[in-house]
Amino acid sequence: MNPVDPAFYHPAPRSQQFCSQCGHALTRQIPPDDNRIRDLCTHCGAVHYQNPRNVVGVVPIWGDQVLLCRRAIQPRHGKWTLPAGFMELGESTQQGAERENQEESGARIQVLSLFTVIDVPSVNQVHLYYLAKVLGPQLAPGPESLEAAFFDLDKIPWRELAFRTVSTTLEHYLQDRNAGHFATHHYAIDLRFPD
Ligand code: ZN
Repeated sequence: MNPVDPAFYHPAPRSQQFCSQCGHALTRQIPPDDNRIRDLCTHCGAVHYQNPRNVVGVVPIWGDQVLLCRRAIQPRHGKWTLPAGFMELGESTQQGAERENQEESGARIQVLSLFTVIDVPSVNQVHLYYLAKVLGPQLAPGPESLEAAFFDLDKIPWRELAFRTVSTTLEHYLQDRNAGHFATHHYAIDLRFPD
């Protein structure tokens, strides 16, 4: 395979075998004055801490419709999702959510309030979704989306949604919309167990 083919590249595993500072093999042990097993380099002393990652996204609303994107990448290729993705270094959660929307749907939006904060400790992630107002119907989905489309709120493709963080965020949206008041919802999901 030509190594410049995008399909050649994939996220590296969280667990690293070699020290990124000096190249020596890592050992897994508790460093002095710590209480957790870490990837430790006994050659140069580097401790390779691993911490949870943030996934940031938006709930883009256009009147009585919500904007969803159909995933062109694994996992859950072909399933529908809210525009969201991993936060990048050097950006705020809101900037990350806006960037992910731009990349995946291309819709112009105005970000409103923080809506869901979802702890997913079984995969070491925290997901944050902002409410957003779509400012125009033009869409320009990027290479991570097969398509982007508006769905009537009573025609959300529940069985074709990619992630439980997406389905529970949409459930909270419908509940709050029916109640006429939008709050911020903080909860946890354990992906080791089904609903
Ligand atoms: Zn090292």
